[in-house]
This record gives sequence, C-alpha cells and structure tokens, in this order.
Amino acid sequence: MRREQTRAPARLLALRSLLLLAALALQAPYVRARVELAPCKNNFTPEQQIQLGDKAKAQVYRQMPVLPDSSPVTRYIQQLGSTLVAQAPGYRWPYNFHVVNVADINAFALPGGSIFVNLGTIQAAANEAQLAGVMAHEISHVVLQHSVCNLEKEQKVGLLAGIGQIAASVALGGAAGELAAQGIGMTAGLGFLKMSRGAEKQADLEGVGILYDAGYDPHGMPQFFQTIEAKYGAGGAQFLSDHPNPGNRTEYINKEISTFVPRPSYIETSPAFEQVKLDVSKMRPYTAREVSSGVWKTQTPNQPPGGAAN
Ligand SMILES: [Zn+2]
Repeated sequence: MRREQTRAPARLLALRSLLLLAALALQAPYVRARVELAPCKNNFTPEQQIQLGDKAKAQVYRQMPVLPDSSPVTRYIQQLGSTLVAQAPGYRWPYNFHVVNVADINAFALPGGSIFVNLGTIQAAANEAQLAGVMAHEISHVVLQHSVCNLEKEQKVGLLAGIGQIAASVALGGAAGELAAQGIGMTAGLGFLKMSRGAEKQADLEGVGILYDAGYDPHGMPQFFQTIEAKYGAGGAQFLSDHPNPGNRTEYINKEISTFVPRPSYIETSPAFEQVKLDVSKMRPYTAREVSSGVWKTQTPNQPPGGAAN
C-alpha cells in the first residue's frame, strides 16, 4: 500500500518531465546545430599535449612581448575566452589566454589550450562578435588537436629538431616571409603550427558553431575575414595564409551559418569590448620587425601614441 502511494507520484513526475522535455524540444529556442568534428588522430596523451604546450608557451614569452596577466586588455580576453570555451566540445583542456603586444592581425593556439591573440587583432575587430570569432577558431584548433598532428607528421619525416623551433615558428607568425627575408635564421621548423587548408576549414566550421552557441552573431567570423583581406590582401596574413581563396572561405562559413536555427537576437558587442577598444586605440603595439630584432626587450612596453619608440 505504502509502496503504491510512492510509486504513483513517481510515475506522474516521470510523465511530467517527459511532457516538459517534449515541450522544450518543440520550442527549441537554443538548438545546438553545429557539426562536432573528431580530433585528428595522434599518439599524444592529453598530458603530453599540455606539457608540450607549456614548453612552447615559455618560449613564446621569451621571444614575444606578451602583456602581463594584470593588463586590463588581457583580463578582458581571458573573460571572453572563458565564455567561449564553456561552449567548446571535447576534452576539457586547461585553456588560457594571452595578448601579444604586436600590431599584426594574428592569433595562434598551442597544444593543450594556450591561446595568444595579437593586440592588432583587437584593434582591427569592429565588434566583440568578430573578435570572438577569431578566438573560437583558435579554440577549435585545440579541440581538434591540429598542431600535435602536424608535429607528428614532422617527426615522422625527421624535421623536428627541438621544442625551441616550435616557438620559433609560432613567433614568426604572419611575418614569416618578411623575417625569413631578413635572414634571421628562425625559419627552421616553420610550418609546425601552419595549418593545412583542411584544418583551417575544420577550425572555421567548429569555431563558428562555438560562436553561435555562446550567443554571438556567427556572421562576426566571416566579417572579420573580410577585414583581414581588406588590410593584407588575400592570403597576406598568417590567419589566411593557407587560403588563397578567402572568398570560398566566407562562402562555406555562411553556408554553415545557414544551417543554424536563427535566434531572435545575437550578441554583437559589449561595454567591456568598447572599453578595451578605447584602451588599445591608445597603445602602440610593436611591429613584427621590432619583435624579430629583439628591440622590444629594451623598450618599455605599451608606449602611448607618439612615444619614443622607433
Ligand atoms: Zn587557423
């Protein structure tokens, strides 16, 4: 008897939750409509990827003017990054975000979840959705483990000579060609973090889904590609270097966006972004040349406009 009494309400509850689920499914206000791609196959454990990333990160800090974690710009990027990684599928990497005080529009991700965004990228982004699009793309390279797969390929053909070279190729970034022309001898191992067109496409598709799932206008991503193209021409920036045809890139991203359930509204920007835009407009990031020559190490960081830097 007692048993009957407890079971009946339990059944009723179960029915209620079923109905509730059905109602939610019918309304479907925030459907996650994106593709979830599998990471590329490799023999690195997550621990090894994190360790590798940590070593490369230390090298990046030695070779590039990375803003301190206490910088308001860095704190903002970390905040935005954590909003985005909350939507990232797959392994829960220990994501961390940094700002490189360099003018070029660029960003890169190390194995294990360290992501670097150039100050020039923040300066060039017209709104928060565009900046978030770049970051979601980089997060996707970590999710899909692209850089360790590149590493494994290089190891197989005996091109990897040491961890320092990983960071060298990272540090070269978009200015690789220019730096190579200056003969600074840092090009060994270049291509390690250089992504194939297929990997870039995957990061775009996974990334635009993360952007959408975080509530941002997914069009921010293709919009920013157009900004890059306007500044550097097709293929001029590292972010686009593997894409001789950025028009095609915009096309397939827009096609992916068309499969998303439209939302009544999207986040385009935020007061925090507008404040940071104001902050970075007063900063004078280093040029790629100043970074490659090491001159940045002798200067005080974050010179205001018209500062003594040359
Ligand atoms: Zn990429």
